[in-house]
Amino acid sequence: MRILISSCLLGEDVKYDGSNNSIAYGNSYTFNQKETFMDILCENEIYSFCPEVSGGLGIPRVPCEITSTTKPFIVKNKDGEDVTINFLVGARNALELCQTENISVALLKANSPSCGNNSIYDGTFSSTLIEGQGLTAKLLSENGIKIFNEKEILELKKWIKNQ
Ligand code: SF4
Repeated sequence: MRILISSCLLGEDVKYDGSNNSIAYGNSYTFNQKETFMDILCENEIYSFCPEVSGGLGIPRVPCEITSTTKPFIVKNKDGEDVTINFLVGARNALELCQTENISVALLKANSPSCGNNSIYDGTFSSTLIEGQGLTAKLLSENGIKIFNEKEILELKKWIKNQ
């Protein structure tokens, strides 16, 4: 199976601060989660993708949050600059890749304004989470792509098995 995975979860230094969210080396995962993740990597065709970098933002970059969660979406960085276009381009590029390569499932980083599948920060840069989706996760799920986050690795493995 072909799986799109947030590049930062694979250990690529693409986060806003130039670091990553590696599952393999992270200390907030159980042995079972890490082992399952490694199985998934070995048994499937992996497409690493970072929507924010694909959308033209640099590394490092000023952190961004969604300030309007309904259309028209607005994403701003902590300096108040509007970066919505970068997020929309990144989301469109992710969808294009999935459609071109027949990718039907994605493992995306939770809480990100691009990749978050259940919750995002509320736009006040105060570390407050609200229910919602990042712009890439939203566009992919609206187009039938199943999304899991890094805390749902075991669920992803089960989902793959049932296909
Ligand atoms: Fe990771 Fe997604 Fe943020 Fe890129 S946009 S650093 S892949 S969470």
